[in-house]
Amino acid sequence: MHMKMKANREMRCKFVSLAGACALLFSMATASADTQWYKGNTHAHTVLCGHADSSPEAVAKWYHDHGYQFLILSEHNIFIDPESVELPEDRREDFILIPGEEITGHKHVHSTAVNVHRLIDWTFESEVVSEIIQDHLDRTRDAGGEHILNHPTYRYAVTSEDMKQVSGLRLFELHNGHPNTVQHAHEVDSGFVTTEDMWDDMLTSGVAVYGVSSDDTHTLKEWNCEASNPGRGWVMVRSPELTADSITEALRSGEFYATNGVVLSRINRTEEVFQVEVDEKATLEALESPYVIGYRRSEASGGTLIEFVGPGGRVLKHVHARRGSYAIQADDAYVRCRVTFTRRAGAGYEQFFAWAQPVFTDGRLEPVPSTGGAPIGD
Ligand SMILES: [Zn+2]
Ligand SMILES: [Zn+2]
Repeated sequence: MHMKMKANREMRCKFVSLAGACALLFSMATASADTQWYKGNTHAHTVLCGHADSSPEAVAKWYHDHGYQFLILSEHNIFIDPESVELPEDRREDFILIPGEEITGHKHVHSTAVNVHRLIDWTFESEVVSEIIQDHLDRTRDAGGEHILNHPTYRYAVTSEDMKQVSGLRLFELHNGHPNTVQHAHEVDSGFVTTEDMWDDMLTSGVAVYGVSSDDTHTLKEWNCEASNPGRGWVMVRSPELTADSITEALRSGEFYATNGVVLSRINRTEEVFQVEVDEKATLEALESPYVIGYRRSEASGGTLIEFVGPGGRVLKHVHARRGSYAIQADDAYVRCRVTFTRRAGAGYEQFFAWAQPVFTDGRLEPVPSTGGAPIGD
């Protein structure tokens, strides 16, 4: 690891122990229409992989106790049957384990198989990264699940060119809370490309791909920013019900946003208009959590920034406000929305994000339905 990165990471560390840390229950939304928002993490490990420190039960309990609605115990090449995991006796009704696996291939290509009910074979001997990803995706879909290409910047194993060659790629990890990749949405070693730039590169090339944020948890017994602790990246999924199938379908169709701390109260995403609204109260509550880690900046201006981003990563419109909208133009091809919340941290600043999924106007996907009827907290 580069010393500079290590020093930066130490600066980023906001907590050294959990003593005195309150376990926040994030304020969850009550939706008014036929859907509701569910908070979840798609990526976590257990002692079963040999390099994480807690049992499946302990990992599930952490997420249960911290206000999540769903979790995937995505073990390296091991299928953990949710039926085999004992949940807390006093468990909430609104918490589920979605079955899955982290398909861990060679060339450092890893994928989460979401909502599969058996072990997916990871042995595939190609040396071509795009072929390995394609194999993970095909095997996952054959098993009835959905595929997420994980942490492309882990060991800088996967480029956007690799991902563009994969037929049907729909989900990739834009943000991953593991210390080796945690800042890679916006910050990478020189000569490499950030995951957010990878995303725009793929979207500009016509790929219909959505960005996921996850924890990649390995560690519950040691808490610092060198440890892969939970609570640093999650998705908020809008779904008619809290079932594995329904959540998976919502992920597949982009009915979610990725975040490392910013909570939204509304996303309305149609072919005509893109509207978002930040839930300031829930965001401030989320950012009181001792678990979140922001992106460090020496220069920034504080507050909330909403940006609508189109082809080439160009910012089509921005507002410094807690709500914003953009009238989509026919030739925009795609529009996505990034919300940035900046606050003071030491001598500089730290930033947190919500990344809303793109809407497409060029026919690469069926038009998304109007999704205006399901605000959080109204
Ligand atoms: Zn991995
Ligand atoms: Zn992992």
